[in-house]
Amino acid sequence: MNFAWSPEQEQIRAAIERVCAPFDADYWLRKDRDGGFPEDFHRALADSGWLGIAMPEAYGGAGLGIGEAALMMHTIAASGAGMSGASAVHMNIFGLHPVVVFGSDEQKRRWLPPLIAGRDRACFAVTEPDAGLNTLRLKTRAQRDGDCYVVSGQKVWISTAQVANKMLLLARTTPLDLSRGSEGLSLFYTDFDRGAIEVREIAKMGRRAVDSNQVFIDGLRVPLADRIGEEGRGFDYILHGLNPERILIAAEAVGLGRAALQRAASYARQRIVFERPIGQNQAIQHPLARSWLELEAAHLMVCKAAWLYDQGQPCGAEASGAKYLAAEACYRACENAVFTHGGMGYASEYHVERYLREAWIPRLAPVSPQLILCFIAEKVLGLPKSY
Ligand SMILES: Cc1cc2nc3c(=O)[nH]c(=O)nc-3n(C[C@H](O)[C@H](O)[C@H](O)COP(=O)(O)OP(=O)(O)OC[C@H]3O[C@@H](n4cnc5c(N)ncnc54)[C@H](O)[C@@H]3O)c2cc1C
Repeated sequence: MNFAWSPEQEQIRAAIERVCAPFDADYWLRKDRDGGFPEDFHRALADSGWLGIAMPEAYGGAGLGIGEAALMMHTIAASGAGMSGASAVHMNIFGLHPVVVFGSDEQKRRWLPPLIAGRDRACFAVTEPDAGLNTLRLKTRAQRDGDCYVVSGQKVWISTAQVANKMLLLARTTPLDLSRGSEGLSLFYTDFDRGAIEVREIAKMGRRAVDSNQVFIDGLRVPLADRIGEEGRGFDYILHGLNPERILIAAEAVGLGRAALQRAASYARQRIVFERPIGQNQAIQHPLARSWLELEAAHLMVCKAAWLYDQGQPCGAEASGAKYLAAEACYRACENAVFTHGGMGYASEYHVERYLREAWIPRLAPVSPQLILCFIAEKVLGLPKSY
């Protein structure tokens, strides 16, 4: 067993750190305050070729694994960019995985190079207001009309829909009462045609730079050529991308937690109260030390899940487990960082209150901690399915 980063992985980390360096904490503070997509940050990563890290080399990507992609996303978040920086590129990194696995060669040639170059920006439109975590209950309809589908319905919480020109869309092609098992949903990657789509931004707790939206689709015409794989198998295709997505968000959460911890430790060394650094008090030391341990443990699970995935082995429990452990460890690290700063923890200029608000995202999405526990209970412990 080898826990060391390879020289190539070390190079990736150092290179990403260099790209992130000009986008310092004050940049992300301004983005959080004023909003607006971090175009220059997205461009910097695209121009240096990093958006294609996990895309096949045949289409202009680097052909590396989820392990390297997770390292990249961890480094972005840990640089202080947090979830604002990570979410700005997250969808590019593994969102089109169903296209890579199930798309035709023609589709990959059409879609992957512009995404890798940063010319296209994709959003991921799955969640619906009435279905929640029960994805098989999606209502958005895609009805066949000649060589097109006509799509109508509603999505919610769709990140980057304000700036996207492409959408990975899961929609119902067979009515629910006629669908068997996981069949009946189809997957499309298509133009985000604002003539047929209305987008309303959701005011939210954090990550203001990366918009989240209600999306109303009314008569969107989707060419047959934009359907991925077979009609009715969209849910199965999406499942293929779930484990990598959980591994990436877990890596981002560990990165954010480490950024918070590093700020907390630095403040604890410098802040003098009762004639000594506050970090000399065990009441300050122990929560921070515990957070270090929790983040390390979560990161080991991230690495294990990524390794399993890259070996082509089952990794459902580990990917979900990594997401659970990392999100909880991240949240506690951010909370401890606020406590360590005392009153200043509540002031924007010390950055940790922003981190704490962002730490809610990997806890809540793309799947809740409750559902992960249900999954582990069922699939690992053999208990009856509860949901
Ligand atoms: C910042 C942000 C960005 C997002 N970006 C995207 C995006 O780009 N694209 C996209 O498609 N979606 C996105 N989402 C949506 C996200 O994936 C969903 O919010 C998430 O899957 C939870 O669904 P829900 O909000 O409908 O919760 P619900 O399904 O309504 O669940 C609510 C609560 O009930 C609990 N619960 C429900 N059923 C059970 C059960 N049987 N047992 C135990 N507990 C249960 C859940 O765990 C949860 O705590 C985003 C969400 C956020 C917050």
